Amino acid sequence: MDIHEYQAKKLLQKFGVNIPRGGIAYSPEQAVYRCSELSGDTWVVKAQIHSGARGKAGGVRICRSEQEVWDAAQWMLGRKLITHQTGPQGKMVSRLYIEEATDIRQEIYLGFVMDRKLERVVVVASAQGGMEIEEISAEEPDSIIRSVVDPAVGMQAFQAREIAFSLGLEPQLIAQASKTIMGCYQMMSEMDANMVEINPLVVTASNEIVALDAKVSFDTNALYRHPKISELRDKSQEDPRETYAGDRGLNYIGLEGEIGCIVNGAGLAMATLDMIKMAGGEPANFLDVGGGASPERVLKSFKAVLNDPNVEAILVNIFAGINRCDWIAEGVILAVKELDLKMPLVVRLSGTNVEEGLKLLAESGLNIETASSLAEAADKVVRAWRATQMAEAS
Ligand code: GDP
Ligand code: MN
Repeated sequence: MDIHEYQAKKLLQKFGVNIPRGGIAYSPEQAVYRCSELSGDTWVVKAQIHSGARGKAGGVRICRSEQEVWDAAQWMLGRKLITHQTGPQGKMVSRLYIEEATDIRQEIYLGFVMDRKLERVVVVASAQGGMEIEEISAEEPDSIIRSVVDPAVGMQAFQAREIAFSLGLEPQLIAQASKTIMGCYQMMSEMDANMVEINPLVVTASNEIVALDAKVSFDTNALYRHPKISELRDKSQEDPRETYAGDRGLNYIGLEGEIGCIVNGAGLAMATLDMIKMAGGEPANFLDVGGGASPERVLKSFKAVLNDPNVEAILVNIFAGINRCDWIAEGVILAVKELDLKMPLVVRLSGTNVEEGLKLLAESGLNIETASSLAEAADKVVRAWRATQMAEAS
């Protein structure tokens, strides 16, 4: 789960990370009021959306008068900001963060990510942070500092200092920088975050280390331990298809294609996406119905898949171990009838009670194609989808 920049900054501040002073605004008037609270003569107006790269999309503006703040706020609020991370549909700006401007001497990149191969948190840092970090990591990969944290002991002070020295910071900045690095790591591990990214972490003209941006993402499976964090969820920033499915307890991820997928098991679901692509189609979603899926749960899954207006055909792929193919078949029949499904539907059943399941489908009298292997199922659903496309075109 992602949170907004201002929320991430407040959290990090509790762990000893320096942040600029700022306040939230929902209207241009409030934005201007925040300026008077902050005093000074230069402010930064920042669109709060769950995306980075806002700067390049006009979502970060340095303003030198209250009029400029008003204009920037007016421009951003209610706008769908399109960054290279949001996809073409963009994300709606409904909150702004107004900060006192910082006089920057150096922009540093500081990231904490999970390395799944190493099964450890890796700190990634670069002395050349800021908006061009992607280009720098591609062109000068050797300039990127990496440091692996041993989970048995956590981030150690010497390790944080080592990272600070590798960044080439002046001696008087090392203590502050390592305090920042330690703080980020502590926040990450105590709050069950998956990722912490400060880009840029800056050295100011008055020689202070300040987090100018912050991106934090949390492990959804650990949210029950952090009710205060759960409250920060902003559904308006999520894919509405994922919100719909997530609210119904389904493990769903929205994709860009037309073939809806209902599969049991995350691994099989991934393989199904690959097979659809290999057959020349594009999957519309990842959906793992889970083990022991009742007919009601299958119906729920159909509703979630069909909630995506781009879906034009559906593939159900079940390899039943704990699951039972007859339950799945019952669910499929229930869904087709209740939702009056007209689009092509291909069902592949395998494993426990497969005969009973196939029999139910055959005797239902409904227009359901079956397949015995995954490859065959993927091929059939893509063909059936193509046929509907041709029929529509002619
Ligand atoms: P992002 O584009 O979504 O990553 O938003 P950031 O918060 O990182 O802001 C983008 C860029 O705006 C930063 O890399 C800075 O160069 C610049 N910026 C942000 N805040 C300030 C500030 O207070 N002073 C100055 N001079 N530049 C800023
Ligand atoms: Mn940034």
